[in-house]
Amino acid sequence: MLPKRQINRVVTQTKADATYAELRRLILDGTFAGGTVLNQEQLAATLGVSTTPLREALRRLEAEALLESHGKGQVMVTEVDPAKLPHIYIVREQLDCLAGRLAAQAATPEDLSALRAALEVVPGPNATHLDYWAANVSFHRTIHAAAHNPILSDVLNRVYLQYDRYNAVFLEYVLDDIARSEHAAMVLAIEQGSADDVETLMRTHYEHGRRFLQIAQTDRQSRWQGADLGEAALKFGSGSPS
Ligand SMILES: [Zn+2]
Repeated sequence: MLPKRQINRVVTQTKADATYAELRRLILDGTFAGGTVLNQEQLAATLGVSTTPLREALRRLEAEALLESHGKGQVMVTEVDPAKLPHIYIVREQLDCLAGRLAAQAATPEDLSALRAALEVVPGPNATHLDYWAANVSFHRTIHAAAHNPILSDVLNRVYLQYDRYNAVFLEYVLDDIARSEHAAMVLAIEQGSADDVETLMRTHYEHGRRFLQIAQTDRQSRWQGADLGEAALKFGSGSPS
């Protein structure tokens, strides 16, 4: 028998993790807008870190397509292309339906507790749209975990990371009562093991989201910087982000 080895819980973030999280936040909240060129040396000084953790953080953000290399020790915050949003949304919908179906079949009692707990997360009165979005994402990620499919989790993670950026730039998401009741109905269907019901509820949730996106597009044409909105809006078909 192998000797028992102790594995300690990781309680503090590494410098690279913390640098990554802070830079990601600055990009998502628009402090570093699309097209901003960042000098690595200045960035390291501003953040108070050395170049090693900074480089690691920058590599991760490049892999998430939030940054691109700009040569000579510089990186550029990638521009967001509104025409891509409907494409991401459609993929998110299909994958979330699959995750919901699998969760109905595979959720453990612990997953069900986590799902019920995720329903209780309600941002406070001073919450920004990013806080609402974070609460929504945390609920959906709990479904992803309950699906117990690592390949699906990996793909969903990448899709959600991309969507984060679009949400931050173009939408003012609010987790409203309708979306919350849709979440609660999904948890009930997962508890009952009904894959068909979960999928139906997820599709309704995304239809609700499509309507929100269309309103956001109409209201915020100026933020889309002259892109071909008509085309993008039509691709949404009929209809608060889910
Ligand atoms: Zn949702």
